[in-house]
Parts: sequence; C-alpha cells; structure tokens
Amino acid sequence: VLLPLGLLMAAFMVGLVVWVSRKRLSPLGELKLGVDKHEFIVHYQPLIELKTGLCVGAEALVRWQRPDGSMTRPDLFIPLAEESGLILPITDQVVTEVIRDMRHVLQADRTLHIAINISAQDIKTGRVLNVVQAALKGTDIQPQQIWLEATERGFMDIEAARTTINTAREMGHAVAIDDFGTGYSSLSYLQGLPLDTLKIDKSFIDTVDTESATSSVTPYIIEMAKALKLQIVAEGVETQAQADYLLAHDVDFGQGWLFSKALTAHEFIAYYQANRAQHQDPH
Ligand code: C2E
Ligand code: MG
Ligand code: MG
Ligand code: MG
Repeated sequence: VLLPLGLLMAAFMVGLVVWVSRKRLSPLGELKLGVDKHEFIVHYQPLIELKTGLCVGAEALVRWQRPDGSMTRPDLFIPLAEESGLILPITDQVVTEVIRDMRHVLQADRTLHIAINISAQDIKTGRVLNVVQAALKGTDIQPQQIWLEATERGFMDIEAARTTINTAREMGHAVAIDDFGTGYSSLSYLQGLPLDTLKIDKSFIDTVDTESATSSVTPYIIEMAKALKLQIVAEGVETQAQADYLLAHDVDFGQGWLFSKALTAHEFIAYYQANRAQHQDPH
C-alpha cells in the first residue's frame, strides 16, 4: 500500500516542480520553451473557389498547444515571436508540420494548395525559401502547391521584398499580400511588387452586406486588384449575403466561417475529400 502511495507522491512532486518552474518563466521564456519542445501545431482553414464551391486548398494557421492541452491563438504570441526572432524557428516548425500533415493529399492531388503565413523578417531575408525547399526535397509535392502570404508590414522594405518575391516565384510559389487594407497600405507597394494574390482583410468584407455598403471602399479594392491582375481572396466571409456580393463582383476565392472554421489536419482532409466527392458527383 505504501509503495504506490510513495510513487504517487513522487509523481506529484515532480509535477509540482515542473509547474512551478514553468510559472516562473517570463512570457519570452515560456515561448522559448514552447519552441524547444516543438509545441506548435497547425490548423487548416479551407479556401473556396466562389464560383464553383470547390475547395482549392487551405491556409495553414499556427496554434500553440501547451502541455496542459490548452491552445493559444497566434495573435497572442506572434507579436512576441516576431520581436524576439523566435518567429524563425516557429515558421520552420509550421513548414515541417504542413508537409508532414499534408504530404499524401498534396502528392495525390496537384490541384490542392496550402498557403503558409510568412513573417516580415522572412520576407526581408528570403531565408524561409530555403526552409520550404528543404522540406519539399524528397517529396513529390510541387512548389506550385505551396503558396506564401505576408502582411503589408512584410513589404515595407520594398527592394528586399521584391528580391524575395521574385525568387519565390522563380521557385514556383505564388505570393499573396495578406490582410490588405489594414496596415500602412501604400498603393506603391502593390504597383512595384510582382505579387500573385491580394487577400482583402475581413474588416472590408464585414460591411458588404449591410446598409453602409454604399460608402464602402471594398468594390474599389476589388477593382484595383483586378486592374493589377491579382487573384483575389476575401477573408472572413461569414454570411451568404457576403458571398453573393463577392461572387457578383467576380472575386475568385473566399475563406471564412460561412464555409468552415480552421480545422485539424484530419478534419481538413475529410472536409476536402467530401467537397471533392460532391463536385465529381453532383447527385
Ligand atoms: P490571418 O492570416 O489573416 O488569418 C485569418 C485569421 O482569421 C485566422 O485567425 C482565422 O481563424 C480567422 N478567421 C477566418 N475566417 C474567419 C471568419 O469568418 N470570422 C472570423 N471572426 N475570423 C475568421 P487565427 O488563426 O487566430 O490567426 C490570426 C493571425 O495570426 C493570422 O491572420 C496570421 O496573421 C497570424 N498567423 C497565423 N499562423 C501564422 C504562422 O504560421 N506564421 C505567422 N507568421 N503568422 C501566423
Ligand atoms: Mg494569412
Ligand atoms: Mg489574413
Ligand atoms: Mg485578416
């Protein structure tokens, strides 16, 4: 009777020590520990072709899964990660995870894509391109199946950004400007950069099905993207009325809770397979 009790006590003490030492860490210390322990996982939000309803891929969205099972959203740790440089190893883990999760489906279907979020630092140096290339090596995934996206902040050093985008495109990756309209949206970036896709931020999609839509700049963003021959993705589509508006304005792709929230790798593969099955056999 005493032996199991002793073991239980010992286990409890070890647990307590681990808990206390973790508690004592600064937010940065905790993030470092999370990086060391590979605690970052990826969820996938389906990307839908609006005209057909076809799922053309997904955006990879990182989550920090703590040992206690709790999940931290990226908005809460990406700023610290970028400030501290820890975003680089986190990006590496995301890339590795995406290839591990999606290798089989990507190899089996060349029309499937995964979009990966790239930090400003990585757009500046182009480092991430080597990481992606290394991850694809030995697989049968085409570089065309990996899309890269970065927010406007990433493009502020326009010369460096142009070099990275050109290299990415030479390698076969499409590059998107993310959250368009929320940052220091200088239109000169758009004109000066060889981008493939513009993702309209959710805040410009929220209002298209409301009364205030008459004073909205959204239709002008759409027209501008078309004039620049960019593919358009609408972010944060939540209602059918929004989807109808976007379709009427010839927007190519939509992403949002109307279609699906971000899913685990398993859930996304099931979602995608069901979506494709539906399109092959409409009955
Ligand atoms: P984002 O790239 O603009 O990603 C879209 C965010 O909007 C995601 O939040 C997604 O879950 C959320 N969202 C999508 N559809 C809807 C909708 O219909 N309604 C609402 N209310 N929200 C919707 P999430 O996953 O929390 O990501 C937040 C941000 O964190 C991302 O914004 C992206 O900028 C950043 N992020 C995510 N993963 C990574 C990553 O691997 N690397 C880097 N550098 N940043 C990342
Ligand atoms: Mg994004
Ligand atoms: Mg976005
Ligand atoms: Mg956004």
